[in-house]
Amino acid sequence: MRARIPPRPARPEMTPDPQLEQRLRLVADRILNAASGAGRPPPRLLAVSKTRDATEVAALAALRRALGEDRPAFGENYVQEASGKLGALRDAGIDWHLIGHLQSNKARQAAELFDCVQTVDRPKLVTALAQWRDPARPLDVLVQVNVDDEASKHGCRPGDIPALAGAIAREPALRLRGLMAIPTPHDDPERRRPAFARMRALFDALAADHPAIDTLSMGMSDDLEQAIAEGATLVRVGTALFGPRPPKD
Ligand SMILES: *Cc1c(COP(=O)(O)O)cnc(C)c1O
Repeated sequence: MRARIPPRPARPEMTPDPQLEQRLRLVADRILNAASGAGRPPPRLLAVSKTRDATEVAALAALRRALGEDRPAFGENYVQEASGKLGALRDAGIDWHLIGHLQSNKARQAAELFDCVQTVDRPKLVTALAQWRDPARPLDVLVQVNVDDEASKHGCRPGDIPALAGAIAREPALRLRGLMAIPTPHDDPERRRPAFARMRALFDALAADHPAIDTLSMGMSDDLEQAIAEGATLVRVGTALFGPRPPKD
């Protein structure tokens, strides 16, 4: 089996992890198959690295570069947990996204650390992130939408997207890139499709006013096929790349 994997540049500092490489290739295949089945361009892969340490992230980043990605994207859920990893991996050429709920009192750190914040869901965050970001290096921003979970406190209502997007677009330190959603979990991933389709419609409507947007972030390990079929341009994958997360203690 191993002999069929094309050689990659030797990286003496890394211990090769055949399982990690195999999982990465599987995810890459799933993405390509889903995109070609849907007749859409393949979405970007965001590797969700919550609970994984800097060594694991560096290993996956190196593999992704060896497979041709210039600046692989990784996502973190907590500013606190991310700050150590981002510090350790400052020169690793990673595009860092925040995908967890952001409290206003962490906005300064987030604005300084990340390349993209996917979870902007209220005007106060727009102001706070803009205040702390250097306009010479605008921060990419997605509006998080609460697409189908009435009970969730996170994500704006679909009707609030235009105002929030307008506020972001007016900030020189921010760059509106699109929308993000975390639909309600269902055992059957097919049941998430209507939410993904609603997100695509919201994205297309927003693009009429903001033609430069290019990112619709939806789909995870269990439902990336359904999300891609409905038009995701970025999928956020954790478990399928890194293996099962250890239980929290
Ligand atoms: C953890 C997480 C993911 C990845 O979930 P997996 O099922 O491990 O792929 C994606 N998006 C968000 C917002 C997450 O918190």
